[in-house]
Amino acid sequence: MIRLENLTKTFDTPNGTVVAADKVNMEVPSGEICILLGPSGCGKTTALKMINRLIPPSSGKIFINGEDTSGLNDIELRRKIGYVIQQIGLFPNMTIEENICVVPRLLGWDLKRARARAAELLALVGLEPRLFLKRYPKELSGGQQQRVGVIRALAADPPVMLMDEPFGAIDPINREIIQDEFLKMQATLKKTIMFVSHDIDEAVKMGDKIAIFRAGKIEQYDAPDRILAHP
Ligand code: ADP
Ligand code: ADP
Repeated sequence: MIRLENLTKTFDTPNGTVVAADKVNMEVPSGEICILLGPSGCGKTTALKMINRLIPPSSGKIFINGEDTSGLNDIELRRKIGYVIQQIGLFPNMTIEENICVVPRLLGWDLKRARARAAELLALVGLEPRLFLKRYPKELSGGQQQRVGVIRALAADPPVMLMDEPFGAIDPINREIIQDEFLKMQATLKKTIMFVSHDIDEAVKMGDKIAIFRAGKIEQYDAPDRILAHP
């Protein structure tokens, strides 16, 4: 599970202090997808970045499976968390195989095992390994690239996935397809997922729970049908 305890982030800007996360307390049970839903600027991305240690919290604590992550080194943290962003972020000068193998190699997997994993994951999302392993990202469509973005985050089999509008840049028809594929994968993988969205339809479709963010605070946290019943 992921637990946030009084997690707070303030930014000092020339126009004063911005409170991007204001004593956020929440818990995502193991195996659930929690959607962070809310308008632009309410602090969703900041929350994910703190969990993934891209920015330091001002105060508060983050626990993964009961362990305070501040005690983990970067490699140990990488073992626990996969991260998917909207802009996909594949390395353009690496092949698809090399992209998928980055984190496993960082974690010390030998090349043979990492490559076998890359092929296995490509097949899982319907990309024939023989055709895709040696291609470069620019040779793939947007939807294909984002499938690779997702499986790259899954490569070392982390228990936690952080996903920041992962399907936001994909056209509506392909978005539906990739959402359905992802839910099918999650039914067996059972990752613990925090998933940022600003799309209520996506939140209801993908979320076991929805956390409604507003101005750095969680306003509501509940199952989608209960959120819809009490807007
Ligand atoms: P969201 O992901 O919900 O769109 P963000 O987490 O990106 O929101 O931003 C939350 C608030 O924090 C916004 O007011 C934003 O302008 C501010 N913010 C985010 N990053 C920085 C930064 N590096 N410096 C100053 N303010 C920031
Ligand atoms: P997104 O919402 O797509 O994640 P943003 O436009 O919120 O992107 O932020 C892009 C980057 O700029 C982030 O790294 C964020 O931390 C930073 N940022 C956001 N708002 C501000 C701000 N007011 N001042 C400085 N940096 C900011």
